[in-house]
Formats: sequence, C-alpha cells, structure tokens
Amino acid sequence: MAIVSSKISKADSPTPKGRERLVHAEPIEQERTLSREDSLRPSCFEDYIGQTELKQVLKISVTAALGRGEALDHVLLYGPPGLGKTTMALVLAKELGVKARLTSAPALERPRDIVGLLMNLQPRELLFVDEIHRLPKVAEELLYPAMEDRRLDLNVGKGNTARTRSVDLPPFTLVGATTRAGALSSPLRDRFGLSQRLEFYRLKDLQAIVERAACLLKLSLTNDACLEIARRCRSTPRIANRLLKRVRDVATVRGGMNVIDAQLVDEALELHRVDRKGLDASDRRLLEFLLKVHGGGPVGLDTIAAALGEDSATLESVVEPFLMQVGFLNRTPRGRVVTEAGRIHLGRLDKK
Ligand code: ADP
Repeated sequence: MAIVSSKISKADSPTPKGRERLVHAEPIEQERTLSREDSLRPSCFEDYIGQTELKQVLKISVTAALGRGEALDHVLLYGPPGLGKTTMALVLAKELGVKARLTSAPALERPRDIVGLLMNLQPRELLFVDEIHRLPKVAEELLYPAMEDRRLDLNVGKGNTARTRSVDLPPFTLVGATTRAGALSSPLRDRFGLSQRLEFYRLKDLQAIVERAACLLKLSLTNDACLEIARRCRSTPRIANRLLKRVRDVATVRGGMNVIDAQLVDEALELHRVDRKGLDASDRRLLEFLLKVHGGGPVGLDTIAAALGEDSATLESVVEPFLMQVGFLNRTPRGRVVTEAGRIHLGRLDKK
C-alpha cells in the first residue's frame, strides 16, 4: 500500500532521516506538496466516493469530536490495498482541521522513531501508521499507554540508575491501516475506539471514481469507456486510476483522439493482460496452478506460495480477496479450491 509522497521537511521531522511525512490538511498546502499521483486523492468526505457506511460512522464521530473540541478517537481501517485507507486518514485530518503525520510501521524499527513522532504531536493532530500489523513489539508497547492514557513511558539511565520517566502527551488521534487485521495483537486492536472495514467498491461507485479521475487528468471518456475500466479494476480505486493512466498512454501514442471509447480501453487493457473480469497475470497464474497441477484443489496456502515464488501473506491479503469476491476461489479448512465459475472463466480464456 502506498504512502503518499508528500513534503518531507527535515525541520519538521523529529526523526533523523526524515522518515515521517508531514502533510498539512489545509487544501492549498496539500495541493502544493502532494505529487501528481496523489492529486487524484479525494480530500473531503464529499469527494470520497462509495464506502457509505464507513463515511456515515466516521462523519458522526468527527462531528461529535469537533463539537466537544476533543481529538477524534483512535481509528483502525482495514481491508485490501488500494481501497482508500490512506485517503480516508487524510480526509479525516482535513475534516478535523488538523495536520496529518504519515508513517509506516516498518519505518518505526527503533523505539526513538515512535517516541520522536509522539513527542512532536500537537494537540488533536492525526498520526497515520500504515501497515500497523508490522509494528515492532517495542513500538507497540510504547503505543499502549500513549493511546489509552496519553502517556509515554520512557526508560532512562542504565543499570542501578535506570528508571521510568512518564511524559504527558497532547490528545491525538492514531489512525492505523492494515491489510491483515487478524495479524494485529488483541491489546493493540482493543485500543482503537473505531474499527472499520473497507469494502470492495460497487460498479457504480467505480464508474464515478473513473469519471472523477478522468476529469482531474483532463481526459474525455465515453460512458462505456468509464464502465469498461470500472469493470476491470478488481473493484479497487487505485487500480481504476492505474488502468485509466495506461489507457491514457495508448491514447497519447495514437494521437488525434479527442474522446477515449470502450474499444480503446479494451485494446489498452488487453495489452496489459487485464482480462474482462479484471484478473491480471498473477491471478490467472494462481488459478492455473490450482487447476493444472492439482485439479482445482484443495491446496494449502504455503504450497501455493512456494510453487509460485510468492509471499504467502501477499497472496492472502492481496491476490485472494478479489478472487474470492468474484467467486473464483474458495478458502476451505483443507486448502484453496477453484470454484466452478473460476474453472469456466479460465476455460474460456484457454479457448480464446
Ligand atoms: P490504501 O491506503 O487503502 O492502500 P489509498 O488510500 O492509497 O489506498 O488509495 C489509492 C488511490 O485510490 C488514491 O490515490 C485515490 O486516488 C483513490 N481512491 C481511494 N479511495 C477512493 C474513493 N473513495 N474515492 C475516490 N478515489 C479513491
């Protein structure tokens, strides 16, 4: 999952290598500091398409926090990559009128990384930690009292003079994002006041996302062209934006195309081996392995990962959720199984 590339100000950064990224939630500042890729990110609830339930819950909590003049409770966002967790963290900061500090759990390898971040928080600021399931144990233990009692327990001195010094922290909001909620320790999970799952997007919402992105990229697409991208983007906004850009490349190379139509989308996506259901090469490789080598399964995840040379956590959190959502794969206690629909889909592809 991508962390937004934003202004990395050494002066602002408490960590020596400036690993933390500071994003101002104020729109003009954001515009100036975010890269072109991030210019497609919606910045407020109104522009954030779909995820109705999630928005409803968070809007109420934001309004209540603002009304009380308090920090928003800690929020855990989970779901497959590219569904809008980082984007929602930035939306929350904007709606709360505070700055968002963005970091990723693997970057917090030393205790002083998380200490530096927490000590530099201003009242009610939002700290976004991506891939929070990968937080090192020490960082996680420092977070417990910080989240619960706004207190940082620091060990100072060595040997006989060692003692714990507590530092009070300002009220703040931790937004944690993960693709693997199950991998979070339960003490950490329990400290989030709000825990929200992001769902795959509906076709209508994906179409609106493509239309919005096309408008921002100053591209003209027919309705059918938008629909075709929406159908083939694995129900994921990040992929919708990516496919749109690949279609734009083909249109640019062709030249003289004022309006992009469904036929051009089809050609561009065929070129990138994205099929009509949105499956890419790695999805098909997984299904083909199950079908051709194991007659469709059941096969254990580790066996699949070893055979395909993939990381099993990536297969589990990135590849499989979509295959299950389209009904091509089942997880059973004995292993992964290709469904009848999956067989038909691949069979059709083979005949092509
Ligand atoms: P995640 O953090 O879950 O991996 P991101 O928040 O980075 O996903 O979203 C990836 C991209 O998808 C963003 O740059 C944004 O342009 C787009 N996007 C995500 N959610 C939405 C949404 N609800 N409406 C419009 N665009 C979205």
